[in-house]
Amino acid sequence: MDLSFDQLIQKCKKCTNCRLRETATQVVPGDGNPKAEIMFIGEGPGENEDREGIPFCGAAGKFLDELLGTIEVQRKDVFITNMVRCRPPGNRDPQDDEMKACKKWTNALIETIQPKVFALLGRFAMAKFFPKFKISQVHGCAYRKWNRLFVIMYHPAVALYNGSFRDVLASDMKILREILDGNESRIESLDEARSDIKELLERKRETNKEKKSQLGMNLAK
Ligand code: SF4
Repeated sequence: MDLSFDQLIQKCKKCTNCRLRETATQVVPGDGNPKAEIMFIGEGPGENEDREGIPFCGAAGKFLDELLGTIEVQRKDVFITNMVRCRPPGNRDPQDDEMKACKKWTNALIETIQPKVFALLGRFAMAKFFPKFKISQVHGCAYRKWNRLFVIMYHPAVALYNGSFRDVLASDMKILREILDGNESRIESLDEARSDIKELLERKRETNKEKKSQLGMNLAK
């Protein structure tokens, strides 16, 4: 897409590429600095975002602003967007085909803004770049991929349902500060992470095999 930032936002606002547009009030393309070095990617607009047309403007957004303050980053200096740009009805999880339809906007925003660092908020944003990762294992970790840096965090909304996650998110956010300060030692090895995941998947496969053979033995009794 060879469009200026403003043209891209205007075009995105008119999108009707998936069913989410039928129930949403408006498209919420993203908000922030068109030349941001940091891009935050969340899940999808909620009720407040759908009404206001601004991502992360509700309670989760207020907490995100608070977290940004702890690392001395201002919201006006970053760009914030989501995996889907129309509110899923009843705040349900976005579905695969909806994220696939909205991917063109995520990619176009990345291409236009050219951020150097990504803060991935939650499992859906994480899965776009690291499909095999489990967020419970990699939140608070930073990786280098395609010459860009990625910091994985829980979605701020989790702290609204479970207060103990406030500290977890604050500590995840500190990694972003370290990455911005150029602390290379905080960047994890992607190869090691991949081999951990491979091991985990193999263990899971073995357990499933054992469960199946146990079930077969029980049925044969
Ligand atoms: S969610 Fe994305 S793809 Fe679907 S209609 Fe909204 S902007 Fe378009």
